[in-house]
Amino acid sequence: MTNNKLEEKILESNIKLAVFDSDGVLIPRGTKITQKEESDKYSLTLSTDIVSDRIANKLNELRRKMMVCISSGRSMIYLQEMYNKVLGESTILSAENGSLLLDGGVLVQPMTYNTEYFDKIRKMREEIKNLDILGFEPKQFILTIHAEREVKEVYDIVRKYDPQEELKVMWNGEAFDIQRKTMSKASTVKALIDRFSLKKEEVIAIGDRVNDKEMIDAAGIGVSADKEKLEAEYHLDGELPGEELLDLLLKNHE
Ligand SMILES: [Mg+2]
Repeated sequence: MTNNKLEEKILESNIKLAVFDSDGVLIPRGTKITQKEESDKYSLTLSTDIVSDRIANKLNELRRKMMVCISSGRSMIYLQEMYNKVLGESTILSAENGSLLLDGGVLVQPMTYNTEYFDKIRKMREEIKNLDILGFEPKQFILTIHAEREVKEVYDIVRKYDPQEELKVMWNGEAFDIQRKTMSKASTVKALIDRFSLKKEEVIAIGDRVNDKEMIDAAGIGVSADKEKLEAEYHLDGELPGEELLDLLLKNHE
């Protein structure tokens, strides 16, 4: 169901950048991962939806009218596979909650990490792998642990190796993300606002989970795709609320 207030707001705004979270917004939620590590062997099975032709067509139509950014917690390698149909001019991919951007064919790493950070992550991983988890999702910067339930010991292990409290842990119902507190999807929004000299009001962002909070706040128009899980000024319902937003934006940007 479409939110009337949002439609009016879009109509009166001059939107130049639309930022979409991926899972639960443009594709159905639910990544299945099984991963096994032995002393000399590593195996991984990952299955995920990719963007449908219907939504890809709408994204392609929209990027003729404004910049489009897909901002996800996933790693870039999967994002490229999932959104292959919409890559090209005016499409920006942001991976691992803002840690890496693919922008005009160029990979940009906005924040540098040091050995200390990676050591910490590695030590946590060593202990977490013995817990009741489904496996780690391959990522370059953040540590993502898939599990059937919110395994509380994960928080204890993070506290143990991060007494300085530089890291944050986010549970989204299917996985934990462990990452620097200072890194968020908002950094992507702010970087794009700076680079293209946009006004905050010219940016709309939609997301559905806790890792989208800062991104929604950094945009002039923040939209929640799941009002039970994420508060925002506006909300959209429906199976894939990202498609509802695409329809509204296309309708109002002839
Ligand atoms: Mg999501």
